[in-house]
Amino acid sequence: MFDVCIIGGGIAGLMLAHCLPSSLSIAVLTKEDSFSSNTALAQGGIAASIGPGDHPTSHATDTLFASAGHADAERVKLLTTEGLAIIESLLSRGLPFDANQAGLPLLGREAAHSTKRILHAGGDQTGKMFLQYFLAVTDDHVKRLPYNSVLELVLRDGQCVGVCVEDGQGNRSIIQDHHIVLATGGIGQLYSQTSNSSVATGDGLSLAFHAGAVLEDLEFVQFHPTVLTLNGKSHGLISEAVRGEGAWLVNADGQRIMTGVHPLMELAPRDIVARAIEWHWQQKGPVFLDARKIQQFKSKFPSIFTNCHNLHINPGQDLIPVRPGAHFHMGGVQTDEWGATTVPRLYAIGEVASTGVHGANRLASNSLLEGLVFAKRLASKLLSIGFNFKEKEIHLAEVTKEFALPANLQVRMTKLVGILREVDKLQKFNTDFPLRWFDLQHYSSLHIKDIHRYTACSLIAKAALLRDESRGAHYRRDTPETSEQWTGKTVELSLAGYTFGERLLKYKESMS
Ligand SMILES: Cc1cc2nc3c(=O)[nH]c(=O)nc-3n(C[C@H](O)[C@H](O)[C@H](O)COP(=O)(O)OP(=O)(O)OC[C@H]3O[C@@H](n4cnc5c(N)ncnc54)[C@H](O)[C@@H]3O)c2cc1C
Repeated sequence: MFDVCIIGGGIAGLMLAHCLPSSLSIAVLTKEDSFSSNTALAQGGIAASIGPGDHPTSHATDTLFASAGHADAERVKLLTTEGLAIIESLLSRGLPFDANQAGLPLLGREAAHSTKRILHAGGDQTGKMFLQYFLAVTDDHVKRLPYNSVLELVLRDGQCVGVCVEDGQGNRSIIQDHHIVLATGGIGQLYSQTSNSSVATGDGLSLAFHAGAVLEDLEFVQFHPTVLTLNGKSHGLISEAVRGEGAWLVNADGQRIMTGVHPLMELAPRDIVARAIEWHWQQKGPVFLDARKIQQFKSKFPSIFTNCHNLHINPGQDLIPVRPGAHFHMGGVQTDEWGATTVPRLYAIGEVASTGVHGANRLASNSLLEGLVFAKRLASKLLSIGFNFKEKEIHLAEVTKEFALPANLQVRMTKLVGILREVDKLQKFNTDFPLRWFDLQHYSSLHIKDIHRYTACSLIAKAALLRDESRGAHYRRDTPETSEQWTGKTVELSLAGYTFGERLLKYKESMS
């Protein structure tokens, strides 16, 4: 029995393990190896108001603005104030952020930030550097269990008491724990185009749903406009900075597709660019980035150049094929300000959680920060609750049922629940793939993994159908306007059905 079982070894899971004292026994389970995660892919950096003249209030204002009126102001205040303190502490403890000759962190600026506040490490390898740092400083009391997939959360008397796990050899077992934490990351792999790691299949959403937890804001999926796409397969991000350097979005004849769409052309807000590219793909055909006139592309964008080169694309001579891809999930398992879900002894942190800080659209570089802040808060919460629960007698059930994953689920998700949504398409998806509860313990491991994908898709589709307005990343062609009636309302899904929750939107200027 572990004191804390953390499902997921990205930035959120490892930060939590790091914040808990060595007197506790802690397990960190990961589906694949320690570096298979979205954290390992994070390039841009992490936001914190550390620069001269900057302040958490300003960071909070930018975050709330980006959220399209949907973030929780109190939670955003926690994010920006406590986030700054954590970054200062990591700096003093030697996390190798890129710095100038005076040793001060180099700060970048990203879209919708009003000032330079993005710290980065290893150039464009910020996420990887965080993982390396945490793996190096984590003590022996943390037992890392790679290639251990959690199949099911085990419940007794309405509490979460453990996890059912399949190890790398295909053996199933039950691990009982005092506290169980979902840190399972995002959902990008539910779509056919994505920037996400192979592990981002929405398991945490399905695990929580089957355990009876409330999930919210699931309709808000952020799509990155330019994922390198060849023969329908995604091959990583082409960062916004390439458009910033002057690359054009063009059709196969070399004509610019943003003409007449937005005065800022390629530099219009991310959502608008993503929707324009997707519309073009659906109505007219492929879209490319023309980066041929960018001088010294290789030295300006070394990792993108290498990625292109490996695919036999020379950005100096060739057009780069791009299509929007699922990038970040704003919604997830509903938590309080300490990371507690609605199920006793079950918690959620990182991208799988809905903490209310992103609203309908995430501000760039706020997600790594969210992982750190809410992991640290959860550590103090767990210590205050204690570890005095008794083990129960629990046995594995017999496998008696089967589940066949519908064909082309990713393609159907992309077409019907993608960037450009419509009521008819959403209804079709909801009819074809209705949200269901499965008695997981009676299915084989393989089938459970498919059930998790299916359930995560159905949850997102259900929420997208219910919110009949457009807001932030959720765009509905049948209701293209943002509706006042939806302001401050969350769509909450659980085994009990759906309800509409309230969100605290009032923003206090009095932050000190
Ligand atoms: C290409 C890319 C670039 C990005 N750039 C930035 C950036 O510059 N700044 C920023 O702030 N954010 C960025 N993001 C977003 C950010 O990286 C993620 O939101 C964040 O890293 C998520 O961290 P996490 O700990 O919640 O999940 P992850 O890092 O994704 O980790 C999830 C973990 O859960 C495990 N897991 C999942 N399911 C199971 C299961 N059933 N059983 C056992 N283990 C399981 C996985 O194995 C993995 O270890 C980027 C994302 C992508 C994809």
